[in-house]
Amino acid sequence: MQKQSSSSPGRVTAQCVQCGRSFEMWRSYVKRRGISKTCNASCREAWTAARRQRWCLRCGASVVGGRKFCTPECKFWSRVDKNGPVVRVELGACWIWTGSKVVGYGGVTHGGLERYAHRCAWILTNGPIPDEMPWVLHRCDNPPCVRPDHMFLGTALDNARDRDAKGRHPPPPHPLETRNRKLSDEGFAEIQALKGVVRAADLAPRFGIAPGSVRAIWSNPHYRKP
Ligand SMILES: [Zn+2]
Ligand SMILES: [Zn+2]
Ligand SMILES: [Zn+2]
Repeated sequence: MQKQSSSSPGRVTAQCVQCGRSFEMWRSYVKRRGISKTCNASCREAWTAARRQRWCLRCGASVVGGRKFCTPECKFWSRVDKNGPVVRVELGACWIWTGSKVVGYGGVTHGGLERYAHRCAWILTNGPIPDEMPWVLHRCDNPPCVRPDHMFLGTALDNARDRDAKGRHPPPPHPLETRNRKLSDEGFAEIQALKGVVRAADLAPRFGIAPGSVRAIWSNPHYRKP
């Protein structure tokens, strides 16, 4: 609460809402600007910062700048429903990605690299996916599931075997990949080799594809030609 008393002529006394000290202001200033809430600049800063304070909607940690979550991890896991279906009793409930979907899988961008939520979940839990085991496969055979202990790493061969064993057909290619059917294996390799050497806009016409497709090949290490 602010107190006001006319202690000395020409002056107004008020109480700082931040530190509680009494301070004086010129009456002429108060007439123009009103009574200040705080006694000085550092109290004013502390007061406005406290009022701008927000807490992460998932973990309650303090956040700044009007964000809802403290970290990308919290943002990611906030979009997961941990009461998913129980596909096999021994696995427990699947954790279902509630964000956007890409061919049945959860879709997301994580560090600009990952397209699939289940791969993100694996990375957030276990660290980078090793090159020699580049596929993140589902024990529960439930594509939108992102529960880390429902997943295991495998090679491309493991992936094909897993798929056949479960009688699943390969997912349809990404739209970008469909557009690039005209690209030969050699062209594909050449584009990859020229990353950082030429501009996408200069390279694309040589292969009859869009510059965006060239950039997609460069930026996505999991990009695969059908
Ligand atoms: Zn103060
Ligand atoms: Zn958080
Ligand atoms: Zn699952």
